[in-house]
Amino acid sequence: MSDHYCVLGNPVEHSKSPLIHQRFGEQTGQEIVYTAELAPLDGFVATWRAFCEGGGRGANVTVPFKEQAFALCDTLSERARRAGAVNTLINGQNGRVYGDNTDGVGLLRDLDAHHIPLKGVRILVLGAGGAVRGVLAPLLERGPREVVIINRTGAKAAALARDFADLGAVVGGGYDALEGPFDLVINGTSASLAGELPPLPEALFTPGGFAYDMMYAAEPTVFLRWAQDHGATPVDGLGMLVEQAAEAFFLWRRVRPDTGPVRALLRRALTG
Ligand code: NDP
Repeated sequence: MSDHYCVLGNPVEHSKSPLIHQRFGEQTGQEIVYTAELAPLDGFVATWRAFCEGGGRGANVTVPFKEQAFALCDTLSERARRAGAVNTLINGQNGRVYGDNTDGVGLLRDLDAHHIPLKGVRILVLGAGGAVRGVLAPLLERGPREVVIINRTGAKAAALARDFADLGAVVGGGYDALEGPFDLVINGTSASLAGELPPLPEALFTPGGFAYDMMYAAEPTVFLRWAQDHGATPVDGLGMLVEQAAEAFFLWRRVRPDTGPVRALLRRALTG
């Protein structure tokens, strides 16, 4: 019988994870079934436990449950512990739950795929939510000159900067503290979901700078359109989605899928 995995979220019906993991399974000859499971907002843990009792082997976790997933784990990877959020669960031996966070490695692999330099550069990260928590440690480990975290609620960005200060030069605050230019600006806010643009100064990018939006859509987001108009090269978060999924697949199956064809498939599915 095939091993069963799922993505747990609310909402979850538009998730691309089932398509991605089914393709990974076909490509690597791994017999898996992967479904999208809607967890009630007050019933995340119960949904995960019921999934495990039915034989489920592991899950991806998406909005808004990554912190609850972190709390239910018996064992955490170092990167999940640092992030304070879990996006990959493994139903282990004797019902023990192992949690990891693959968002950071997913972003880094995508930045590498686009040949975006990180060492010695100045990076702006917009937002201070779960996604940003997951990517700060891997970004800082690449040795940027400075990472500046800016958030609508400035105190959250300042607190995040303090939490990660042992890993490198990182400062945080509100939009009034924002001073460019930056070689790379990563939008980790959910503003693009609402078609909104955070309040950004005109001189945001260095010449040849890059703009990365963790969100992806059929059309470029308002942030990426603005960035392109201001001289930056725009990249959306589709590659990050595929790469974080590949890392989760590896954790579950110990086989690394080839992400290139799945990126291309997803891009076609997105743009029709
Ligand atoms: P959270 O809800 O945890 O955090 C949202 C963040 O966005 C907060 O910092 C919030 O600020 C800020 N924000 C929301 N609306 C606005 C606005 N109008 N203007 C400025 N800032 C705003 O979300 P996540 O961190 O989980 O996700 C963030 C984004 O990243 C989402 O779009 C998500 O889809 C995407 N993502 C993509 C992944 C991928 O694989 N491509 C993986 C994970 C996430 P405040 O604190 O002030 O409320």
